[in-house]
Amino acid sequence: MLMPVQLPDVHPADLTEKLSSFQKKGKAILATNFYNYETLRGILQAAAVLEQPIILQLTKSSLDYMGLASAVKMARAGLQSFNIKGWLHLDHCYSYSLIQQCLDAGFDSVMIDASERPLEDNIRITRKVVDLALQYNANVEAELGYVAKLGQSTDQVGFTDPEEARQFVEATGVHALAVAIGSAHGFYKQEPRLDIELLATIREKTGIPLVLHGGSGIPAAALQQAIKNGISKINLATEIKNIFIQTLQACLTENEEIDLRVVFPPAINAVSDLVKEKLAIINQP
Ligand SMILES: [Zn+2]
Repeated sequence: MLMPVQLPDVHPADLTEKLSSFQKKGKAILATNFYNYETLRGILQAAAVLEQPIILQLTKSSLDYMGLASAVKMARAGLQSFNIKGWLHLDHCYSYSLIQQCLDAGFDSVMIDASERPLEDNIRITRKVVDLALQYNANVEAELGYVAKLGQSTDQVGFTDPEEARQFVEATGVHALAVAIGSAHGFYKQEPRLDIELLATIREKTGIPLVLHGGSGIPAAALQQAIKNGISKINLATEIKNIFIQTLQACLTENEEIDLRVVFPPAINAVSDLVKEKLAIINQP
């Protein structure tokens, strides 16, 4: 029998509050991964034009590529210069020590992903991260169920079980939960179908903000339905990488330009247009 976690009575993290209030209003915040200065800039341009808040996400590979301190400073400076309300989030992390490093570096939010471990382990690991994050007043996201990762089979049935989700949230005190309701990471071979009924039940059972991973390629109407039924954070990564590289490739095939400052802007603008499009879908009443 799992005992409910007793959390100290502290003011919830800023992002936790924001996600909860968005969920209540049937709204969601877009969470975009960035990989370098150019993708970051494209995202920020879009958020600034539409005056929307944004969650900037980094994975371990992106941190390895850019360096933790540089990535954090670049993101913070970007939010400030574009005058955007935003949060820094660590996406899919399997390592407690990296989570600690990121919290030390000032991340507002972290995701501990122990979803491939047995339930008891997922609970124990997530709870440990929630305890740690409390010291930083940071938001914690965990995952329950099977959202296929890049290269993994999407055939596996592993939708989040609502009763298990209730137990998980109660036992860990986690702030936001990534759910498996039919989305997958990467591109879809066929149009994904989200199980909205299941989502609504999970929301009812858990009462916390829910997160949709694999936001790339989900039709607008399905995204909007999901938002109305409890998804308050939508992750977008694959489409950003894709549009950036496609635009860059096309641009480089057409000319022999070697000035990076000429070559990159079309790709930056393509990212910006994509993010604007997603923000418009998410913010449609
Ligand atoms: Zn994900």
